[in-house]
Amino acid sequence: MEYHHASEMNGVVSEYLNMRIESTHNDLCKEKESKEAEESQKRSLIEKSYSTILSELGEDVGREGLLRTPLRAAKAMQFLTKGYKETTQDILNDAIFDENHEEMVIVKDIELFSLCEHHLVPFFGKAHIAYLPNKKVVGLSKLARIVEIYSRRLQVQERLTKQIASAISEALEPAGVAVVIEAVHMCMVMRGVQKMNASTVTSVMLGRFRDDFKTRQEFLALTMRK
Ligand SMILES: [Zn+2]
Repeated sequence: MEYHHASEMNGVVSEYLNMRIESTHNDLCKEKESKEAEESQKRSLIEKSYSTILSELGEDVGREGLLRTPLRAAKAMQFLTKGYKETTQDILNDAIFDENHEEMVIVKDIELFSLCEHHLVPFFGKAHIAYLPNKKVVGLSKLARIVEIYSRRLQVQERLTKQIASAISEALEPAGVAVVIEAVHMCMVMRGVQKMNASTVTSVMLGRFRDDFKTRQEFLALTMRK
């Protein structure tokens, strides 16, 4: 087959491309649909479980205020643990760039909300992150996204702090990473083990932040100042 006119050829090419785009689109739609079906199946199982929990607590699950509570609670729990489905690679893929910047990069007061894995009760507070770039840097908002990915899971504060530091360390291979988290644990506050405004502080220092006292002090002075 010969093409005599460029426009005719373009027509054939674009028709072919449209077919390809359409079939890729269909595949993506099917994948999305099956994922949604799986999610809603899981949600209804969680909903049934919440209904059991409520009636075992002595509640009347048929009373008006509780009618949709199991479903709402199931949705809330799925939202609060959605970090399991996200990876730092997904969000950092196109966000890392080369830069000849060697000064400390600090982002402080990143809000975080998580669930303690021992009691399934919230703990929340702030994360402060710093790193010393070694050619690679990342958009500052992505650091907050990393915090979100790991906080929207069942956690203990120490592990959360470590996971955030390791993720940054692996993605950027910096000369050092420091992560400090200050958080209030409702499981301790509500049981009277801790006062409302007393927070638990955890930190992980890697590379120069661990080995060099002055670097560590500079970071702590800048972040922990009230
Ligand atoms: Zn707890």
